[in-house]
Amino acid sequence: MAKIINIHSGEEVIVEKKIPKMECTICESQFDLEGEGGTTGYFGMLMVAFCPFCLSSILDMGRQMLDIKDE
Ligand SMILES: [Zn+2]
Repeated sequence: MAKIINIHSGEEVIVEKKIPKMECTICESQFDLEGEGGTTGYFGMLMVAFCPFCLSSILDMGRQMLDIKDE
């Protein structure tokens, strides 16, 4: 089972089928969305997929840019 989130509407879709390995849009590594984590969605009309490492890095960069402290 995996959860796919539309980043524009926030709508979540639960997918029951086994999802094949995905390629990260940033680092091009293959990752298992269901087993390893990461996320996928759309930037405008472009489908994007982020492996757990790149997703964590994106979120960390966002926190730094917005000056959000971990608490
Ligand atoms: Zn990646």
